[in-house]
Amino acid sequence: MKPLQPFEEPAAAFPGTRAEALLRVGAFLPRAGRHYAAGRNTDQGPGHRSDVSILSPYLRHRLLTEREVVERVLAVHGPREAEKFIHEVLWRTYWKGWLELRPAVWERFLDERDATRAGAASGLAKALARAEAGETGIDGFDDWAKEITDTGYLHNHARMWFASIWIFTLRLPWTLGADFFLRNLLDADPASNTLSWRWVAGLQTTGKTYLATKENIARFTEGRFSPKGLAETAEPLREETALPAAKPIRPTPPVPAGKTLLLMTGEDLHPESAFPKGLDIAGIATATRIEGTRPWPFGDKAGRFLADAMADAASRAEAHFGTGPARMGALDAPSLLTAAKACGATSIVTPETPVGPVASTLASLAPELSAAGIPLVRVRRDWDSRFWPHATKGFFPFRERISALLREEGLPG
Ligand SMILES: Cc1cc2nc3c(=O)[nH]c(=O)nc-3n(C[C@H](O)[C@H](O)[C@H](O)COP(=O)(O)OP(=O)(O)OC[C@H]3O[C@@H](n4cnc5c(N)ncnc54)[C@H](O)[C@@H]3O)c2cc1C
Repeated sequence: MKPLQPFEEPAAAFPGTRAEALLRVGAFLPRAGRHYAAGRNTDQGPGHRSDVSILSPYLRHRLLTEREVVERVLAVHGPREAEKFIHEVLWRTYWKGWLELRPAVWERFLDERDATRAGAASGLAKALARAEAGETGIDGFDDWAKEITDTGYLHNHARMWFASIWIFTLRLPWTLGADFFLRNLLDADPASNTLSWRWVAGLQTTGKTYLATKENIARFTEGRFSPKGLAETAEPLREETALPAAKPIRPTPPVPAGKTLLLMTGEDLHPESAFPKGLDIAGIATATRIEGTRPWPFGDKAGRFLADAMADAASRAEAHFGTGPARMGALDAPSLLTAAKACGATSIVTPETPVGPVASTLASLAPELSAAGIPLVRVRRDWDSRFWPHATKGFFPFRERISALLREEGLPG
């Protein structure tokens, strides 16, 4: 293996721009092959991480697309050496597809979270406050609680240990742990977060849980942490109702003819590559907030990241599509109709919005837009249309398809 240049972990702050995302990919590329495969499970701690990419906030909001990262890594390392990194990126795509096939699992999470929070007795509320503040006395766990609150990022292995200790040692409700992550992570994502917590709890792969152990934590933190008193068994949680059957992914409608308004929501902030050629984009509307009892973004840090990322994406989109300045507005039908009429658009297009608060809000306002003669069209990327329908079972059957599907994408698989 060629010796690698010293790598400086990017500053803990995450500037919300595509230029920053591209810089980070460029810096990480030499390490995305065998080096990543060998070191990705080790968490050397903030400021010392050279083995993982720290790209997730950028990928989650698609300031950077999965396809372009995979393409660049393949160009440097080839399919064999890049396999581990590519499989990890494809976990994101897989979780998105899995939830897209079963949107009711997201609703079930929200309902259970809200009911548990509303019914929490004072003992539970105190235990939750201690866990979130990093005051449990559990080595590592307390540090990760503070890290996530301070920085909005946590290494994958630390997320697994944290979730396992939350559920099996502290015996706290998993939905409230998932909610703590959602409120604090910059990459907070309905699919990756909910389904990973379910996986640790034994709900996702029925009967299979993830148990954090002192030995594993000490080994993969290089001795930084060695927590005592962790649960020694992890009995899978159970759900009262069976999972809904997978339903087919909705077909993508044809892109509209005539002038259209581009709506950007934060689910996909690279509109330059999100649509087929030939769209007549006459104006741009952006929406970065949903108010109400289930607001979005889920937390303040992600909200600030998203506001910067949206400003960056809007100025790129204005230049790329040659429109006037984007109109910032609320995600409601009157604001969208006003923006569409102002630029003479007869439809609204938006990059696909996977299962989550934005998709739910758009679904609720689409009938009003249609009734006003301005249909809303969600355009899905080929990448998602190609991979998502294969997320019917576990990741391993999905993984078997990855090489062939990458070749269909025109990439070396
Ligand atoms: C309990 C729990 C909750 C999680 N919640 C989220 C979440 O809300 N949002 C989120 O984006 N990820 C979540 N993950 C997945 C994963 O931990 C992060 O994507 C990853 O740690 C990001 O760090 P990185 O960019 O340095 O990853 P790298 O190791 O450098 O991986 C490269 C990219 O691959 C993808 N990836 C890697 N591992 C996973 C994984 N296990 N699942 C899905 N995608 C992956 C990410 O896009 C990541 O940026 C969660 C994992 C667990 C165990």
